[in-house]
Amino acid sequence: TQVYNFSSGPAMLPADVLKLAQQELRDWHGLGTSVMEISHRGKAFIQVAEDAERDLRDLMHIPANYRVLFCHGGGRGQFAALPLNLLGDKTTADYVDGGYWAASAIKEAKKYLTPNVIDPKIIVDGKRALKPMRDWQLSDEAAFVHYCPNETIDGIAIDEMPDFGSDTVVAADFSSTILSSPVDVSRFGVIYAGAQKNIGPAGLTLVIVRDDLLGKASVACPSILDYTVLNDNDSMFNTPPTFAWYLAGLVFKWLKQNGGVAAIDKINQQKADLLYGTIDRSDFYRNDVATANRSRMNVPFQLADSRLDDLFLEASFAAGLHALKGHRAVGGMRASIYNAMPLAGVQALTDFMVDFERRHG
Ligand code: PLP
Repeated sequence: TQVYNFSSGPAMLPADVLKLAQQELRDWHGLGTSVMEISHRGKAFIQVAEDAERDLRDLMHIPANYRVLFCHGGGRGQFAALPLNLLGDKTTADYVDGGYWAASAIKEAKKYLTPNVIDPKIIVDGKRALKPMRDWQLSDEAAFVHYCPNETIDGIAIDEMPDFGSDTVVAADFSSTILSSPVDVSRFGVIYAGAQKNIGPAGLTLVIVRDDLLGKASVACPSILDYTVLNDNDSMFNTPPTFAWYLAGLVFKWLKQNGGVAAIDKINQQKADLLYGTIDRSDFYRNDVATANRSRMNVPFQLADSRLDDLFLEASFAAGLHALKGHRAVGGMRASIYNAMPLAGVQALTDFMVDFERRHG
């Protein structure tokens, strides 16, 4: 059977990319070696690095006054890097607590600052929702405002683009939504994302930072998290995760060949509509997030009768639909449908769900 992998991350990669990487593993560019066995300082790898950055800039229309950093440390590394780089002589920052990951960022930030926590969570018609940005009470003393536009575990999203004026530095955790839909980078001071969902293998973290925010890191900031040090060294202050960087580059090329972010955005919408539509049409399944805040990347859903959960997971796995178990903090099911998940995969899932309901409803 064709396997579709709904893992929340590390997640499925485009089949074409994996095929190419597999071929190139034997003999990369005629060097008789693989790309992960060569120096990051050699001409061959520098070309990979530069291509990847150029392609990402093209895909996201990153303005010239933004730097792109290819880092270690994951999303959680950035939870620490943000205050260490951006706080300057201030003592607080605004932190919007929209879900599990935003809350984790707050916990880490508390080592370095006293956050002004903004809780946007509300219930609308019995569904989980988040207050719009105009209702966020930002502090005048804050060095920046941080939020997470897509909560991977809660399945809740903030699609609104920030517009707080040019004095407000907006930092956002795009780990589970980067490259899935168009983003106006100029609205942000810092965008960061772990690679392991929409970009490539785990171990690589992208940071896109406006260049006037460089040069402010605290003396306590570890050099490998210091945006200025990373930028001055072309993200090669220490040995970068070269294979992940190379693979991310292949994914960027794949995305460009397939029409870029605008094209994948349309497919992502179709996938989400199909899955949420299937959930909403039945009483057998439910999703409790208000329509406006539903994530198009991570779709948690519950079976009305949770005693059927194990059976659902066994039968879906047998049908080639993998990794549908919900996060342990939430339970139920979760389908992560990042860029690499084709519409056919979501179709296979919804066909399965309809059939499962017919047999057990
Ligand atoms: N932020 C978000 C939105 C995530 O989904 C995750 C991981 O799933 C993280 C941060 C943590 O990333 P990492 O495991 O790379 O530190």
